[in-house]
Amino acid sequence: MTTGLIFDREFLLHEQSPSHPERRERLSYTIDQIEEAGLFHHPRIRVSRPPRATREQVERVHHPEYVRFLEEASRRGGFIDFDTVVPRGLLDCALLAAGGALHAGISVWKGDFTNAFALVRPPGHHARAGTGAGFCYLNNMAIMVRHLQHEGVRKVLVLDWDAHHGDGTQSIFYADPSVLFTSIHQKPLYPGSGDIDETGEGPGLGYTVNMPVPPGTGDVSYHYLFDTVIAPLAREFSPDIIAISAGQDVHFTDPLTGLAVSARGYAELVRKAVMLADSICNGKLVAVLEGGYSVEGGLPYTNLGIIAALAGLPLESIREPAGYQEILLRATDPSAHERVCQTAGELRKLLAPHWNSFS
Ligand SMILES: [Zn+2]
Repeated sequence: MTTGLIFDREFLLHEQSPSHPERRERLSYTIDQIEEAGLFHHPRIRVSRPPRATREQVERVHHPEYVRFLEEASRRGGFIDFDTVVPRGLLDCALLAAGGALHAGISVWKGDFTNAFALVRPPGHHARAGTGAGFCYLNNMAIMVRHLQHEGVRKVLVLDWDAHHGDGTQSIFYADPSVLFTSIHQKPLYPGSGDIDETGEGPGLGYTVNMPVPPGTGDVSYHYLFDTVIAPLAREFSPDIIAISAGQDVHFTDPLTGLAVSARGYAELVRKAVMLADSICNGKLVAVLEGGYSVEGGLPYTNLGIIAALAGLPLESIREPAGYQEILLRATDPSAHERVCQTAGELRKLLAPHWNSFS
C-alpha cells in the first residue's frame, strides 16, 4: 500500500498579496510539519512532482476564451473579483495545480498509488467553466475528473468538505449523472449557494447533494452526515473512484469560517472515506487540497491527519496543542447537531425519488 503525496515547491510561488488569506504560508507550514513528522520518508508514502496540465486537458472543463483571458491577464496582471486578482505568471501556477490534481487522480486510477493527496494551490472549487472566483482560477477537481473519464473511468463520487460550498464544481457537473457531487458546507457563508433543494438538472437530477450546516457544527455532525447520507449514496452509486475536495477551513481555528471540526475528527472522517473506498472501489481515493486559512493553528494538523489516515497510520497523535481545547469549546454550538439532523431528514426525503437508499 502506497500513498502518493503530490507536491512541487512551485506551488509556493503563487501569491495575490502577502496579506491575502490564500497565501504561500498555507502550504509551507504544512510542508514543515510533514517534514518534522518524518512522513516524507515513511515507507508507505511516496512524494511525486506533477507535470503541468495541458491546454487540452483544461479545455475539457473551461471555455477556451476564459483560458485565453487568463493567459493574457497573466502577462500583465489582471482582475476577476476583489478576492481573485490575477498576478503575473498566474496561469503557469494554475496549470501546475491542475496538473497536481490530475497526476494524483491518474496515478491512483492506474495503480501507481493506492490513494493520493494533491497538496496544490491555488485552489479550484469556486472556478466555473467560464470564470474564476473566490481565490480559484482553474477547477482542479473538475479537470481531474474529466481527465479520468477520458482515461476510462465511468463514475466519480466527489466529496467536497471545504467549509464553502463548491459552487464551481457543482455547476460543471450539474446535469451530469456520471458524477455524484456531494458537499457539506457552512451556511450562511460565501458563496451563498448550496441549499438542499439544489439537486441537479436534466439527466443529472438527484446527482447533486448539498448538506448545508450552521456555524458551530463539529465532528459529531460531520460523521453523522457521512454515515447517514454520503456512505449509503456512495454504495448505491458505486463509483470507480472517490475524489475529495479537501478544504481544511472546517477547522475550529479557521479565521474565515465558523465551524468546529477538530484535526482528529477530520482525520477520522478521511479514515472512514478510505474504508468506504476499500469496500466499493478497490480503495481508489484521491484528495485535492482546496481552502483552509488557519495557517499555523489548523492547516498543518489537518493536513497531517489526512495523510496519516490515507496511509493507514495511527491517528492518536493527530491533535492540536493542549491549549486549543478552550477555543474548540467556544467554537462549538451544542444546538447545531439537532439542526443538522433535521436538514439531513429533509434532504433524504427530497432525494427519495432518485435513490433507493432513501425511499
Ligand atoms: Zn473554503
